[in-house]
Amino acid sequence: MSVLVFGSLNMDLVTRTHRLPQAGETIAGYSFETVPGGKGANQAVAVARLEVPVHMGGRVGGDEFGKMLIESLQLAGVNCEGIKVDETTRSGVAAIAIDDSGENHIIIVAGANGQVDASDVDRLPLLEIQVLLLQLEIPLAIVLAAAQVAKQAGITVILDPAPAANQLPAELYAAIDILTPNQVEAEQLTGIAVQDQASAILAARRLRQQGIGTVIIKMGAQGALCATAAEEFWVSPFAVRAIDTVAAGDAFNGGLAAALAEGRSLPEACRWAAAAGALATTVKGAQSAMPTRAELIRLMS
Ligand code: ADP
Repeated sequence: MSVLVFGSLNMDLVTRTHRLPQAGETIAGYSFETVPGGKGANQAVAVARLEVPVHMGGRVGGDEFGKMLIESLQLAGVNCEGIKVDETTRSGVAAIAIDDSGENHIIIVAGANGQVDASDVDRLPLLEIQVLLLQLEIPLAIVLAAAQVAKQAGITVILDPAPAANQLPAELYAAIDILTPNQVEAEQLTGIAVQDQASAILAARRLRQQGIGTVIIKMGAQGALCATAAEEFWVSPFAVRAIDTVAAGDAFNGGLAAALAEGRSLPEACRWAAAAGALATTVKGAQSAMPTRAELIRLMS
């Protein structure tokens, strides 16, 4: 019973200012912090907090950020043997500026994440895992290669198609079991504006026609839609006081993967996912907002 997350690790460089600068303008900010992030690492922490064994695969650079990224994952209980320290490059970073209204500018430099290659796929501990969780912050060809070898090994493959892409190759759709876009990503992939239950069902059917067995569309405060060959059902949102929706989607994916690795049914895993997503909105931050197993069980009961 174990999950593998294969994807990105970034150091988020977060500056806060009263207002965002215009092009060419220099302004004073009032705070700066470094916060471990990256969709892959966030999702690995989400699984670990739920007390399900989890491995992380990917790359960091041979710099101080790389050490900090691995240390923070280890502290959360993630097995980091699959993370390569690539001395030829720097760790991925996200330079983030946030103003008083919460508006932001984000620049991501992939760094080591962009160097992940087939040798990293060869090192994945596929014999030890039931569920592989992928995102799109490492090269697409490598995401595809990992999905294909895992699928052949009988592992459940989940792809979170984030950040949003206009189109994904047909071979990738064929190699994944579950696709988990949010509303924006679902729209980008289908051309259907996903706003409510009816449009979500249309988009999910369109994606299923392209060869994906199960599509789960994350709909923010509305909950989520799950569509399989057998059924389409709505995953109700849990009532929470949301204060920060950052990484709700990462928590959702972590909850889904953790529950499936434990052998839970798809509807039950969707409830776990929705509970994890909801709880993540009640705390500021990304990895720091991932709920514990006890919190999740309390919300669901
Ligand atoms: P993303 O972060 O990828 O944009 P969403 O915002 O759709 O993803 O959030 C992921 C999931 O988290 C949702 O499908 C829902 O189950 C849960 N969630 C998000 N926001 C809320 C909220 N305000 N109240 C309850 N659940 C929420």
